Amino acid sequence: MGRNLTNLIIAIAALALVAGCFCRSDRQGRSFPIDDPPSNTARSSTPQEERRSSSKPDNGDFIVEHLDVTTPRYVEIDEQVKKERLLPDAAERLNRALSLPHDIFLRTKDCKEVNAFYDPRERSITMCYELMEYFYKTFKSDGRSDDESWEKMFAAVRFVFLHEIGHALIDAYKLPIMGGEEDAADRCSAFINLKELGEEGVDAVFAAAEAFAIESRRSSSSRRNLADEHLLSEQRFYNSLCMIYGSNPTKYSRILTEGMLPKERALRCPNEFQKTVDSWMSLLEPWRKK
Ligand SMILES: [Zn+2]
Repeated sequence: MGRNLTNLIIAIAALALVAGCFCRSDRQGRSFPIDDPPSNTARSSTPQEERRSSSKPDNGDFIVEHLDVTTPRYVEIDEQVKKERLLPDAAERLNRALSLPHDIFLRTKDCKEVNAFYDPRERSITMCYELMEYFYKTFKSDGRSDDESWEKMFAAVRFVFLHEIGHALIDAYKLPIMGGEEDAADRCSAFINLKELGEEGVDAVFAAAEAFAIESRRSSSSRRNLADEHLLSEQRFYNSLCMIYGSNPTKYSRILTEGMLPKERALRCPNEFQKTVDSWMSLLEPWRKK
């Protein structure tokens, strides 16, 4: 498990996720006003050799912060993350791609809970080591091998990270969201994974779908689940498959032929996917560096 978890973290960061919540409460901090005045945090010293610009001014960076880890089994992995400069490399890629109106912090830590969340007050994304461990155990307990569980865990965490980036961008750019923000963040992750990250991105959405499916088999439709701001795991499972199928119905025809997605929904997915792509492209355009 230690090796696997270490490999996972390395892989996460190496991917330099452009931008994720499987979590139950990733909107932690939403009770705070989301239109705080800009923080007084000093500008980051992230090197920007390329002077690319967007139509909107670039007044912030994605900045990595390594927080102290107190859980003994996560100490080694935390040291590895720092040593490999994995998150800084991811932040640099993000900073090359997007302008920001203010800094956004990227954090990994042990949170004492299974979670990943964007905090609008601190303008930070936190990926908890417990969530990574949770994914590993989820896939393992569903019959996957050690290696498969590691790969799936890595992929699912990428989906989550990009979902959190979705929340961060919605907040930073004050993007208009019609419908639930949790669904919008899921679609942001699907959009980036399926349009920008090639096969690795497809693997991420498939892994998230599998995790949603496992979760849905284990949980009942309790009032608490029905009242949650996230869609039900069953819905997130079908939505994920719809995005994949819609991105390329020929390549992913097995989603339809193997009955993973009902035909009635599948027929609408190409249009649904294209609308998702067009919407996010349009919303991000002023902030994309060229
Ligand atoms: Zn979320």
